[in-house]
Amino acid sequence: MSELPRQHGHDASRNPLVMKLGGSSIEDAGAIRRSWRILESRLSLRPVVIVSALAGVTDQLLTAGKAAARRSADLANNIFADVHFRHAALARELVAGTEQENLLSQLNEDFNDMQILAQDLTAAGEFTPATQDHLMGLGECISSKLVCAAFQQAGLAAVHVDARSCIVTDDRHTYATPLWELTNENLRRTLVPLLQSGQVPLMAGFIGSTREGVPTTLGRGGSDFSAAIVGGALHASRVEIWTDVDGVMTTDPKVCPDARVIARMSFDEASEMACFGAKVLHPATLLPAMRENIPVHVLNARNPQGEGTQIVAHASTTNVVTAVTAKRKVAAVEIETWERMNVELLGAICAVFDQHRCPIDVMVTSLGRVSLLVGSTSPLPGVAADLEGVAKVRWENHKALICLVGENIRRQPEVASRVFAAISDLDVRLSCQGASDRTITFLVEDSKADESVQRLHRLFFPEKTAPKAKSSPVLTQTSETQPAAR
Ligand code: ASP
Ligand code: MG
Repeated sequence: MSELPRQHGHDASRNPLVMKLGGSSIEDAGAIRRSWRILESRLSLRPVVIVSALAGVTDQLLTAGKAAARRSADLANNIFADVHFRHAALARELVAGTEQENLLSQLNEDFNDMQILAQDLTAAGEFTPATQDHLMGLGECISSKLVCAAFQQAGLAAVHVDARSCIVTDDRHTYATPLWELTNENLRRTLVPLLQSGQVPLMAGFIGSTREGVPTTLGRGGSDFSAAIVGGALHASRVEIWTDVDGVMTTDPKVCPDARVIARMSFDEASEMACFGAKVLHPATLLPAMRENIPVHVLNARNPQGEGTQIVAHASTTNVVTAVTAKRKVAAVEIETWERMNVELLGAICAVFDQHRCPIDVMVTSLGRVSLLVGSTSPLPGVAADLEGVAKVRWENHKALICLVGENIRRQPEVASRVFAAISDLDVRLSCQGASDRTITFLVEDSKADESVQRLHRLFFPEKTAPKAKSSPVLTQTSETQPAAR
């Protein structure tokens, strides 16, 4: 097995760079050209490129699949035609000659596959997770072929690598996890020789396949995860996530126009933020890179000179609070157990939530009671039914979980008192000092979420002392997919 030597200090001349181009970084011809220039400026760093579907396509395919399963074949076909037209037009604009013909015929094949899948869906009247993975993954199949051909046309030695033959996953459709050893070995065996011969491997993000070759996906927003998987396998010098915002923000700029870019933060802070409602990163994105101590940079393809946000294993910052987040529309669940709480009982309760694919955000237990927060109430009737005889389950909707994240936040007790002084009149329902050292979280009515965030952001990021980032004014949260909780 070919393996890159492990470099101390990540010597850029040896360890490759992984660049993930998000949907907005390849959404049209201008964006693809911009990304090509960014890539060109990094050729000496031995880049490997991971691409998402073009902006909006994954959602379109999902809508089309649902429509086909509802037997609205016309709607599904209109969507496919629209997606096909967009890709073919870009192929004609960016690629010429026989390469263009080849690309167009490959695109035709993929669109035929889409139509066949849709017919099957209509016949079956059901959109199973496995079909969903197959259909939605085609968005990355076509974008990666298009972008690769466009880069080749521009003179780059790009080679298309089939992600599905490298990233081998379990069969948890719609949120599959790689089989690490096999995946790492495949990635090294495929990518290292290409890098060694001076080529630029380019592959689709988001997708993989089972050992049996059945298509899977890594969860919404999963191409960040793909980038980190590839980065981890190759011991990359760094992973760059190219998106349409200047970096990870101190809070949602739609709620606080005064939000600013976080220059540097720890992996753990970023994971907490993602768990608690920030829309920038897929939480599991970070794990493969974290394990290998590889920094992840979030950068704006529309403003490539910007510093972005650097996420590292351990960040020493002087800020007590790194970010304020809000997770909206959560439900507070109270579980009263008939027996005294014990480890088995708790395990059984968690297993029921897991069976109903109901991820738990925060959990507090006491003798005969478990209080927890979940993102959606729809699985709860099922959970309650399964726990009948063991526990009584009640829930309340329309809550928001506000979270302050900071590496040392809990070691500074005055932070909590400042927080509660600032929002005590807002009817704080429950404060949960979670297990993490890095967060202070509490629950408010959903209608009070914005005001809570605004007050806390003002408190910890006052305008005068912390200047705003100088870069682009485009500071909305990423327009790309809201990452899925894994
Ligand atoms: N295209 C996929 C999605 O929209 C994966 C990604 O963009 O990261 O979820
Ligand atoms: Mg996408």
